[in-house]
Amino acid sequence: MTPPRISADRLLADLAELARIGGRPDGGVDRVAGSEADLAARRWLASRIEAAGLEARTDAAGNVFGRVPHSRGPWLLLGSHTDTVPAGGRLDGAYGVMAALEILRAFHEAGHPSAEQLEIVSFYDEEGVGAGGGLAGSTYLCASEHAAELSGYLELHIEQGPRLEAEGFELGVVDGIVGIDRWDITIHGAANHAGTTPYSMRRDAGAAAGRILHGLRRLVQAVDAEMVANVGEVRLLPGATNVVPGEARFVVEMRALDPRSLRRAAEALHEEVAAAAAEAGCEATVTPRSSVPPAPMDPRLVGAVEAACAESGRRWRRLVSGAGHDAGRMAEVVPAAMLFVPSHLGISHSPNEHTEPALLAQGAWVFASAAAKALEFPRDNDHISGK
Ligand SMILES: [Zn+2]
Repeated sequence: MTPPRISADRLLADLAELARIGGRPDGGVDRVAGSEADLAARRWLASRIEAAGLEARTDAAGNVFGRVPHSRGPWLLLGSHTDTVPAGGRLDGAYGVMAALEILRAFHEAGHPSAEQLEIVSFYDEEGVGAGGGLAGSTYLCASEHAAELSGYLELHIEQGPRLEAEGFELGVVDGIVGIDRWDITIHGAANHAGTTPYSMRRDAGAAAGRILHGLRRLVQAVDAEMVANVGEVRLLPGATNVVPGEARFVVEMRALDPRSLRRAAEALHEEVAAAAAEAGCEATVTPRSSVPPAPMDPRLVGAVEAACAESGRRWRRLVSGAGHDAGRMAEVVPAAMLFVPSHLGISHSPNEHTEPALLAQGAWVFASAAAKALEFPRDNDHISGK
């Protein structure tokens, strides 16, 4: 069944209005989860839902939902988040929520028979600026009874990376969301005088750390060419210009879609850390800090998104999301899939985040088409154990 016409003008006007809540003079947005602006944006969303003759509901975690009044599940959930990082952009999260609202509104207004099987959501605290680590709202939903009333989850989002635009694609179908493993590494050497200690007698923890950082790209790419790793902060102790570092501390973060790649890279990292420490006359400890497993998307929902992209006649490709999303958490309990639109120059988490309005409108249209296809799937809830 074809989706009803959605209004690009109304979608873009909603996006512009939402961007004013917590809006900054530089065009960016400050709507950190729990801030006055974040809560105001959630109240505004609920009022937009009700103004369309729909039912708005906020759960105990702060997630805002909308659906046709008196509708009964299972629902296909469409959404994203309206919180931002400090000095964030107008589109990260907001685009997916506003597109979901426009799609539900259009289905409802058209009296589409599937309107009652749609629900929309703005998840609470996706970004995790505070202590929680993010994905708070989707984590809460996954553990709540409402999860068993969902047939699936679809999320529309900006890519937040440069690949689609650089390669001339207008749409990206997400294969899966990378897993993220972090390792705490400490190199133990000996602090000593930087002028009088000969190289042969140094136990330089900084030199060992330097070798590990330098080799990290080659280490992970030898395991998986699509894999990336990062060290964003290094501490050398005691931290003085004229003292050979007695200790080095840093965190290695590794991201991959294939859990075997994460395991193999971890083994290689352990070996390299031991070798680098030994070469510098040091000892090393490697301890796991955190692990978020990769989230493959649901093949059948991915197929619906692909079919919608193919029918659009626009250039599209499959790609892996290197950034975390609510869809990754949702994929643990319901079938989930994502559609990306390009991010200009790959800029995100910045006031300079931008996607051409025509691409935003097109993405929403293709997303509506994907939702319509997914709504035609037989309404089993086989993924819910015990049901
Ligand atoms: Zn986001």
